[in-house]
Amino acid sequence: PLRTKADGVDYAELQRILLTVPEPDSAREWSEYYTSGPHLGGKNLSQAIWTRDKWREFGVPNSNIVDYDIYVNYPQDHRLALLERNATSDNKEWIVRYEADLEEDVLEEDSTSSLSDRVPTFHGYSASGNVTASYVYVNYGTYEDFEELAARNVSLEGKIALIRYGGVFRGLKVKRAQEMGMIGAVIYSDPGDDGEVTEQNGYKPYPKGPARQPSSVQRGSVQYLSFAPGDPTTPGYPSKPGVPRQPVDHAIPSIPSIPISYRDALPLLKALNGHGPKASSFSEGWHTGGLGYQGVHYNVGPSPEGLALNLLNEQEYVTTPMWNVIGIINGSIPDEVVVLGNHRDAWIAGGSGDPNSGSAALNEVVKAFGTALAAGWKPLRTIVFASWDGEEYGLLGSTEWVEEYIPWLQATTIAYLNVDVATMGPEFKTRAAPLLHKILNETAVYLVQSPNQTIPGQTVGDLWDHHIATMGSGSDFTAFQDFAGITSLDVGFGVSAKSPIYHYHSNYDSIHWMKKFCDPSFEHHATVARIWALLAANLIETPVIQFSATDYAVALKSYLDAAKRKSDARKPDYIHLDGHWERLYRSLSRFDIAARAHDTVAAALLQHLYDDDIPWWKWWEKVKLYYDIRQVNTKYKFLERKFLFKRGLPDRPWFKHLVFAPGKWTGYSGETLPALVEAIDERNWYLFFGAAMDLVQRFESAAGWLE
Ligand code: GLU
Ligand code: CA
Ligand code: ZN
Ligand code: ZN
Repeated sequence: PLRTKADGVDYAELQRILLTVPEPDSAREWSEYYTSGPHLGGKNLSQAIWTRDKWREFGVPNSNIVDYDIYVNYPQDHRLALLERNATSDNKEWIVRYEADLEEDVLEEDSTSSLSDRVPTFHGYSASGNVTASYVYVNYGTYEDFEELAARNVSLEGKIALIRYGGVFRGLKVKRAQEMGMIGAVIYSDPGDDGEVTEQNGYKPYPKGPARQPSSVQRGSVQYLSFAPGDPTTPGYPSKPGVPRQPVDHAIPSIPSIPISYRDALPLLKALNGHGPKASSFSEGWHTGGLGYQGVHYNVGPSPEGLALNLLNEQEYVTTPMWNVIGIINGSIPDEVVVLGNHRDAWIAGGSGDPNSGSAALNEVVKAFGTALAAGWKPLRTIVFASWDGEEYGLLGSTEWVEEYIPWLQATTIAYLNVDVATMGPEFKTRAAPLLHKILNETAVYLVQSPNQTIPGQTVGDLWDHHIATMGSGSDFTAFQDFAGITSLDVGFGVSAKSPIYHYHSNYDSIHWMKKFCDPSFEHHATVARIWALLAANLIETPVIQFSATDYAVALKSYLDAAKRKSDARKPDYIHLDGHWERLYRSLSRFDIAARAHDTVAAALLQHLYDDDIPWWKWWEKVKLYYDIRQVNTKYKFLERKFLFKRGLPDRPWFKHLVFAPGKWTGYSGETLPALVEAIDERNWYLFFGAAMDLVQRFESAAGWLE
């Protein structure tokens, strides 16, 4: 709005370009390119070069590869067998009752599944090992699940855990199994977690229908996440060649683990029938196994004497280059920056949903901004595009880059906008830091037509449930939000209860599945590109940054209320916390007042600018207005940083944000006011006092900053 046509492209024209340039057919073309062969982290240089060249071609000449040397594993060998003692022979040797496939079926319809160089099933950062032992079904393997097993006196020590995917980040399942003294972990995908669309409910499995293909396997990282993302040998600093390397035992498991399909899990689960208590006698979270119709009773075991698993996992660990592609468009204001990022690496040859639906969308976004530049657009702020490598192993490329450029990023960056999977289903989903709720709610989503036009003219915003989740982890925004204190969001189309099963991290997240079941027209791809570009444009072009500090204050109040309710329920009578709560609420209300006042001033300045009623000869008033806007923006820019705490969270110092962190035992889902809430969870009132004091300081400092 500061610009007129004379400058080339005004805001309305920019929006028009960003809405019309991204289109489904070229998204399809990029998607076909990225998903045509394996591109694991550290094994996709040709795709990095291709991406860089495309971005240059699209009109962003300052696009370059930035690389790191990262410690990572590649699969060598694996085996899983159900063994039985030969009761008839004298020496009672083991005989094989079931040898697991550990491989996904080759499907005629889906050419990705037959590639000769397809990626084996394995876990990122898993430990090598060869163990033979009795095994226990531990449900989802959450912290609570293990507590319940211990309470029921199910013996875990020295056994192998048979774990069901879901609920929490897989690395935390293995971590807890290891802490319980277990010596191996096997994680499978139970169709009971697939919602309505299952074979049992009459849906045909992929590729004939939308239900889970029984041989599908979810690969994935088992790094601990709660320690720190990024290269586990360089927590907090970039993995440049020659840097010192740290030991990794507190960051990744030392017991072997492998992922398996439900088809391979069936004989193992059935063999537990009649042994140990039934899952149905445990709490509710244990009741939903979906293989009952196949004869599984879901007994937890342990498997009896004479029945064991042999688990072999062989990984090669190397320190190897990984390649981010970074494209930069300089704005007129050099120290106000917006970063847009998506990861490029996939667990599999396909990766048509994860992540390359997002990669295709990002290319469309770059192309759209390139088109605007060619038409004469002069951006107000600076845009950075990032195509990350190594996300799947542990957010490697993004974390190392943030760790390297943190001085510049913290001095300049307003926001980080992430898209991981642009589409795996029909439902628009968002998570965002509160400062960004306003632009999510007010602008882009209502400017973009929904791919679903049951009512003509329907926008994405019309169909969106308006739920904005908090920033947990599991994607590349983590280092920005939790380590650098950069306000972030993440958007994309997710699954609904009735949509086709998304074969997450499996060979069947392929271009064939995308074209047949998920986004045949590639409209969802283009839609995400349009929304992403418009969100960025709003932040880049609006003279007053469109943040809402009020939303931050409101959110903080709800987080604090939730923590208070929890503490009231848990605290013994002899512990007196009233003084602490009073100080917390008092400092927060100071922040609330400052936040509202700041938003009011910001809105008034913008209005003043739009009204454009300062006569030319009062030029000093105009100078003053620009100066005031600059100051208001600087306050917005650094506001999120005020919630960082140098020493980090009590037992995970890499995580610096006192308001947002991944849940210590969930990983994906976010925890708010983590230090305070964990102290309450652990009934550690001494820790609580410290956490409350630190928070009061953060609230006061944020309030003081705005005042
Ligand atoms: N998106 C990856 C996953 O969920 C992230 C891995 C990680 O955070 O380590 O497996
Ligand atoms: Ca590092
Ligand atoms: Zn992803
Ligand atoms: Zn992934």
